[in-house]
Amino acid sequence: MTRFPRHLVRADLQAFDGYSSARTSFAGPPARIWLNANEAAEPNRADPGGSVRRYPPPQPEPLRRSFADYLGARQSQVLLARGSDEAIDGLVRTLCPPGSDAGIVVCPPTFGMYAVSAAVHGVPVHEVPQVDAGHRFRHDLGAVADTVRRTGARVVFLDSPGNPTGSTVDPGQLDTLLGDLAEHSVVVLDEAYAEFDVEGRSWVPDLARHPHLAVLRTMSKAHGLAGARVGALVADPELVQVVGRVQAPYPLPAPAVEMALSALAPEAIQHTHARVAATARRRERLAAVLAGHPGVATVYDSAANFVLVRSGEADSMLSRLREAAIAVRDMRHLPGLSDALRVSVGTEEEIDAVVRALRDDRAPATALREERAP
Ligand code: PMP
Repeated sequence: MTRFPRHLVRADLQAFDGYSSARTSFAGPPARIWLNANEAAEPNRADPGGSVRRYPPPQPEPLRRSFADYLGARQSQVLLARGSDEAIDGLVRTLCPPGSDAGIVVCPPTFGMYAVSAAVHGVPVHEVPQVDAGHRFRHDLGAVADTVRRTGARVVFLDSPGNPTGSTVDPGQLDTLLGDLAEHSVVVLDEAYAEFDVEGRSWVPDLARHPHLAVLRTMSKAHGLAGARVGALVADPELVQVVGRVQAPYPLPAPAVEMALSALAPEAIQHTHARVAATARRRERLAAVLAGHPGVATVYDSAANFVLVRSGEADSMLSRLREAAIAVRDMRHLPGLSDALRVSVGTEEEIDAVVRALRDDRAPATALREERAP
């Protein structure tokens, strides 16, 4: 059986215990009276039931179990985190010696937090740009493997479906990359938008075959809980443990844990599946609406809950949308996307509003203001 390549963890963290909190350091049968964490003796008026008076468990078991069941993972493979953002940061901090040359590889256009975490940690970011193949972006995973070997990068970050491209990684090529990098680097597959990729599959079942693979998941997208800040690293139990020791002592607020747990109950998941299916249908409508706009040159295929478009008239589209109080993401600051906008899939009514705003593209602004009246 293959094991996690321990040499990829920072040498100075291999025997690191992390912070020992009041919660984790109290052994033996549960106490009747808890006086070990300097918590308030009485609840706040804002918390009449007193459920938030105490520090939460660092890794609440019921949520860990539910998340693991939802993903088809073992509990020991799941580390809950304050959004997948925290898991990204934890991986960089655990694997890359700070200030060293052993950094990360990213494939732009991609999610910006990978590079931000690396920059804050003082390690280099090696870019292997994706190839624009017309209606989708493709990763150059051969070049990724070469870059890891050349630079000694400890982590490769791939998002699939990718933000902002909406494209997915080719499974055969990812399998080859995993084979090539088995001893060289942790390969992180960020599946933040996986639920929307109705034809795709998760790589969680492949973790047993590839102990240097790590998957990121979140409650922020399909589950609709971005404000609760709950995500997870799903990886080899050894990597889960060491990233857990690097993590802040109480990453998950108790109310967020309760909400996430309810969202993973079977009826709630069924509801999420229905919302995801409806979102995928509306995504096709939004893509068609945008493709029908005379100024739009390309609408990329998307397996996520947004679409990326290119337009020589991006400025005027943005100002029309802004006039109608519609916010979309301007991606033009990113290399290779100098004419691109990213539009999230909203409700039918919100897409109607986009249609109206863009239909009036060349109409006077007063007409738009009338449209906005309730
Ligand atoms: N990964 C990707 C690809 C994302 O687009 C985002 C958020 N936009 C995240 C991770 C972070 O998600 P979370 O809310 O779980 O921190």
